Amino acid sequence: MEQDELQLQTLAIRHKELAGQIADIGFIWPGSIQWRWKVCGKPNCACSKDPAARHGPYPYWTTKVNGKTVNRRLGHDEAILIEKWIRNRREIESIMAEMKIVSNQALSIAVKCNVPRQEDSDPIP
Ligand SMILES: [Zn+2]
Repeated sequence: MEQDELQLQTLAIRHKELAGQIADIGFIWPGSIQWRWKVCGKPNCACSKDPAARHGPYPYWTTKVNGKTVNRRLGHDEAILIEKWIRNRREIESIMAEMKIVSNQALSIAVKCNVPRQEDSDPIP
């Protein structure tokens, strides 16, 4: 039992460390950014014949809203910021995945440590 409580304590410390890492991460943003090269459609423009002369790249933000993919062209500065915020979000997601694993390990031990409790063994009146 003491071993279990020690292990539970170790997991709680790890969980708190991970939560602390999340606290230090800045703004987050959903979806992803793609940089696309474009053909303008003007018949005399070099881009119509030469793939290397295409315009861009221009940043496009893609996300899902109610299961539907949504695209939006971004300004260059906006895109640089959002790229960083998307990296932040992915970092938080990977930390949360580890927190879930730690919590999962904690559950079986926590259940053992709490049973039998007095109130559980009391007969129902
Ligand atoms: Zn063109």
